[in-house]
Parts: sequence; structure tokens; C-alpha cells
Amino acid sequence: MSKNITQIDTLVVGGGQAGIAMSEHLSRLDVPHLVLEKHQIAHTWRDMRWDSLVANGPAWHDRFPGMEFAHSGADEFVPKEQIADYFNVYAEQFNLPIRSGVEVKKVTKNIGSNGFSVETSEGMIHAQHIVSATGAFQIPTIPAIAPEDSELYQIHSANYRNPEQLPEGGVLVVGAGSSGVQIADELQRSGKDVYLSVGPHDRPPRSYRGRDFVWWLGVLGLWEAQANEPGKEHVTIAVSGAYGGQTIDFRRLAAQGLNLLGRTESFADGTAYFRNDLAENIRMGDENYLALLDQADEYIARNGLDLPPEPEAREFLADPQCMTKPTLALDLKHNNINSIIWATGFSSDYSWLPADVLDDNLMPQHQRGVGSEPGIYFLGLPWLSRRGSTFIWGVWHDAKYIADQIVIQRQYQHYCAQN
Ligand SMILES: Cc1cc2nc3c(=O)[nH]c(=O)nc-3n(C[C@H](O)[C@H](O)[C@H](O)COP(=O)(O)OP(=O)(O)OC[C@H]3O[C@@H](n4cnc5c(N)ncnc54)[C@H](O)[C@@H]3O)c2cc1C
Repeated sequence: MSKNITQIDTLVVGGGQAGIAMSEHLSRLDVPHLVLEKHQIAHTWRDMRWDSLVANGPAWHDRFPGMEFAHSGADEFVPKEQIADYFNVYAEQFNLPIRSGVEVKKVTKNIGSNGFSVETSEGMIHAQHIVSATGAFQIPTIPAIAPEDSELYQIHSANYRNPEQLPEGGVLVVGAGSSGVQIADELQRSGKDVYLSVGPHDRPPRSYRGRDFVWWLGVLGLWEAQANEPGKEHVTIAVSGAYGGQTIDFRRLAAQGLNLLGRTESFADGTAYFRNDLAENIRMGDENYLALLDQADEYIARNGLDLPPEPEAREFLADPQCMTKPTLALDLKHNNINSIIWATGFSSDYSWLPADVLDDNLMPQHQRGVGSEPGIYFLGLPWLSRRGSTFIWGVWHDAKYIADQIVIQRQYQHYCAQN
């Protein structure tokens, strides 16, 4: 790849799965393009996740159509290092023009000429189209309630690697989406005393009647949903491929010894305070779980499928004491808790783009990834076109659509009047 490119039709910013998918489709459509990645290909998978993380979906599903995983069976959950390797091999196999170690610092609209001027860490590039593929899970977010206490070891889940990293003593994990619940489980299995603060969540069954939940979401059309149900826009999803893949079941985690708490509300004088909403959050999660079983049963009946009944999937353990007699205040020192892991999500930084392509919340203004400013496109955003948009397989389909849109625009731009 020449290092001296100063003009390109389409510049893709970010060499994660979104940038790679974009580059594959642009290559197929013969659109001259370049991908700039400020670290290395699949940096987020390689460097920003905990050591034991495996994919949330099985290998047959959480991949691009063009290549299978080399070292995992179709129903296995691929370790994150192998996911990063997969994208590196993919980029090589499709001969994608990706330049690593180059950061895009600023994009400015050209005045009086087409396209954009792009300031990078290695000089200026002029591009007709910009695709932002910089990732939705970019900046770890820790809420303002985090206590200022130098004796507490506090990290975001993005900086968690393994149990050995934490000091001796108990740990409070705030947030029970896929990250928080998996990290809490791992810490508890390593022998730590773990407290897990559980907010509203969805928790699909890992599998039901012999099929993984990713299959159920597929056949039921739920990956294609264009928005979450009203009122559930910010509800996290608790799933895990760890230990061969198990349904997240908070009652089982409590029986295993995890101390469950409601949503973390505040900290004062060494005490953490929690909402009295644990039982309700778990009840809502159960409702979501059972609704999927019902939809699956209906689908099986309607289509006459021969899948084994699984009545035990509807049996729950009794409510644990943490649900019936919830802890609402926890003296951290008294309970020997000296670490907090904030599994509280991420935000994104688009300050490198022209301000008027963003909305009042500094988030992209777009329709299905086509930015409000002609020539600017977005990929990898939650619900960009559907539920699947941030997932490996989903971003590939979004990238295909964006590539088509760029080709359509190129046709208009190359039009010459015949008379
Ligand atoms: C803990 C966790 C587990 C997940 N597990 C799964 C899973 O099992 N299955 C699944 O399908 N999805 C999963 N996801 C969701 C999603 O697949 C990943 O977050 C994935 O990394 C998103 O890919 P991306 O390419 O959109 O963004 P990223 O992977 O974040 O890639 C963006 C890239 O852009 C680069 N970049 C950023 N700014 C610039 C700049 N200014 N100039 C140049 N380069 C820049 C970054 O260095 C980065 O490499 C998970 C997410 C998280 C947080």
C-alpha cells in the first residue's frame, strides 16, 4: 500500500470489523478506497477486552459470510484472540487496503470543491466520501456517582483483564449486562467475594429446544427489528458464551454465592446505596426470557418442526434472600470490599467530524448509516439499521448497503450531460 496517497474516492476510518466489512464491499464494487486504523487491525478485540472473553454467539453465526473460523467448531464460542486473528486473516485474504498506525484527526468540508479534506497523523488526504467505522464502544463511561476514594481500586470493564489484577478482598461489579455478569461470575469462581449490582436487562435463553438463541432471533425476525420496544431503548442484554455457553440466570448466580443488589444509586461516607429494584429487574428479565420461549414454541408448532420439548427451561430456582430481603446499603470497608468494576457501558467521540453532521447529543445524524451531510456515512452504531447492526454478522450487511449508496452517488457525480 503506497504511503503517499493524498487523494482517494472513499476513506474508511477505523480498521475493526466494520471497516473491514466496508472495505470488502468497496473492493468488490471497484470503489477506490483506503482504510486508516490508528492502532492495528481488530485492535478493540485484541487489546480492549478481558483475557477470557469469548464471542457471545457461536462460530457459525458470529462471523462474516466470506470465511469460517479456522480453529473452532461451528457451535463453539470463539476466544477473542482468535476473533482478532480472524479479521487479520480476512483482511489479507481479500487483499484489503488497510493502513495501520494512522489516526484521522479532523475532517473538514471543502468549500468551492468537492469532498472533504482529512487531517491524519501522516498528512492530508482529500476524499469524496468518508465512512466512519470507529466503533460504538469507544470511550468507557463511568457514572458521576463513582466515589472519590483513593483506597478503592476502581476500573471500567474495558480495563479489566483477569482476577489476578485485583487487590485482595471483595469486589463490587456495577452493571449486569453481558460484560458485568461475565466478569462477576469469573471473579466469584476465582474465589473472590463478589457483589453484583443488577439493573433492568433482557436475558434470552442460551439455547432452547436444541437451538441457540441467535438462531431463534434469526428465524423469528428479531435481529431485523429496527428499534427496541418502547421503554426498552436502554435495556442491556445479558448473554454469555463463557464455559461453553450458559443462560444468564441470576437465581443460579445467587445460589453459586454471588451477592446480588439493585441498581447502584449513590455513595456516601464509605457506604454504597442501592435501589430497591432487584426483584423487579429480575422479574422483568424472566418475562423477557419466557416471552422468547413462548415465541419459539409458537414457531415450532406453526412450522411443524421436530425439536425436542424442554419443559425444564421454564423451571426457576426459588427467589434467593437477596431478592426477598434486599440489601439497600453496603458499608464497603466493613464488608472488606476494596474494588469496584464499572461495567456501565461506553460512549463515542465524533469530534473529528464536522460539527453539523452531529445532533445535539453529539451523535451522528443519519438514516440507515447515510449521514445528513452528503458524502458522510456511519457504520457499527447500535440500531443503525436493525438490532444486529453492532454485531459481527450484522455490520457486514450494513456495510453492503452503504457501499451501494456510495456507488449510487459516484454514478451521479460522474454523470456528464450528452448535449
Ligand atoms: C465486551 C464486548 C463483547 C462483545 N462481544 C461480541 C460478540 O461476541 N459478538 C458480536 O457480534 N459482537 C460483540 N460485540 C459488539 C461488537 O462486535 C464489537 O464491539 C466490535 O469490536 C465492534 O466493531 P467496530 O468495527 O464497529 O468497532 P471497533 O472494533 O471498536 O473498531 C473501531 C476501530 O477504529 C479505530 N479508530 C477509532 N478512531 C479512529 C481514528 N480517529 N482514526 C483511525 N482509527 C480510529 C480504533 O482503533 C478501532 O480499531 C462486543 C462488544 C463488547 C464491548
